[in-house]
Amino acid sequence: MKVVFIDRDGVINKDVGYLDKIEDFQFIDGVFTSFRYLQSLGFSLVIITNQSGIGRGYFSDYDFHVVNNWMLDKFSHENVNILDVLYCPHKPLDLCTCRKPNTGMLETINKKYNIIKKESWLIGDKESDIDTAINFGITNTVLVESGQEIDKKNSKANFILPSIKFIDSCIT
Ligand SMILES: [Mg+2]
Ligand SMILES: [Zn+2]
Repeated sequence: MKVVFIDRDGVINKDVGYLDKIEDFQFIDGVFTSFRYLQSLGFSLVIITNQSGIGRGYFSDYDFHVVNNWMLDKFSHENVNILDVLYCPHKPLDLCTCRKPNTGMLETINKKYNIIKKESWLIGDKESDIDTAINFGITNTVLVESGQEIDKKNSKANFILPSIKFIDSCIT
């Protein structure tokens, strides 16, 4: 299958830093329409998110799942089907294989669903998201500006967009 891998914080929702409460979760404008559009093109949607706040002890696995289940519920009410959500709970010093830009989460999805890398995409708001795609062998990448500060000139992303709202200008 062809997949769009999507970072969460800064792409789907405003990045408030170590988000652990539903009250702080604000969907970025246009995300539902954009995801329905990607679905209409035959893509499966997979969320891959670093959540080092868990490893750092700022919030728990349980807190993550409360927010995650709430988010998935909103998506399903908006007729968006998220195939899977993977998260890395580790902190950088844990040296795990799943924290982006490592490819562990993408490898897991590939084992489970057998994806077509050539036709798959990754959307992120940090250069390390783009590196994750490249490390895995996905060359179709989009960097959105709605989250982090980015270095447009030196980015390895194929496309840079003001936000997920404009995804139909590059994935067609
Ligand atoms: Mg992000
Ligand atoms: Zn990890």
